[in-house]
Amino acid sequence: MDKYFSVAIDGPSGAGKSTIAKMCAEKLGFLYVDTGAIYRTVGLAAKRAGIASKDAEGVSALLPGLDITMCHDESGLQRMVLCGDDVTEEIRMPEVSIYASDVSAMPHVRAFLLEMQRGLAQTHNVIMDGRDIGTVVLPDAELKIFLTAQPEERAKRRYDELLIKGVKTTYEEVLKDIQYRDKNDSSRSSAPLKPAENAVMIDTTGNSLEESFRLICGIIEERMAK
Ligand code: C5P
Repeated sequence: MDKYFSVAIDGPSGAGKSTIAKMCAEKLGFLYVDTGAIYRTVGLAAKRAGIASKDAEGVSALLPGLDITMCHDESGLQRMVLCGDDVTEEIRMPEVSIYASDVSAMPHVRAFLLEMQRGLAQTHNVIMDGRDIGTVVLPDAELKIFLTAQPEERAKRRYDELLIKGVKTTYEEVLKDIQYRDKNDSSRSSAPLKPAENAVMIDTTGNSLEESFRLICGIIEERMAK
């Protein structure tokens, strides 16, 4: 079997993981996998079915009939398809973020999505971002990075992104959402957000996107050359 190179990038919401991972994947010719989008799709499925976000039994009953697929368009953008419906844009809505965070604390949801994520790393060079990639999904990844930044800066970045997309919200609401998800994601018993033991720790507070991209791409290239 061919051996592929895996980079795991974990960290809290708004640390810049997806943007930086996508840029690095493009530069290096890797497949970029946004695992948050997969949890968001499960969250959206629960929301559409009228199931409360913390109703573990309801979500569990939904899983066997759930048809989730992902594909990458010509520009490398990951598109999520839920039961035949392209939900790539809809899963970015703030109310889906809360659903994603709640359903992702359920062990059966995590188990349901594990093989899908691992399968991609068995067939491609990947840069995969999420919360538990270095600790659970790809414990043998060649490189693990834990990316963070101060909550206020992460909220500002996320708020600016949402504004560009035309989503109506306020900075205060986005900060509250980030604080809610930080707490939820770090305190859950199943695959909590925490750095892997051998992760390279990077705090991007005060960095421009370009600076963080160059730093991280450099670390990946250095590890690949070893
Ligand atoms: O990364 P993003 O903010 O899109 O992720 C949405 C939610 O999905 C997170 O708040 C987190 O609760 C969950 N998630 C997770 N494990 C991952 C990726 C995302 O629990 N690997």
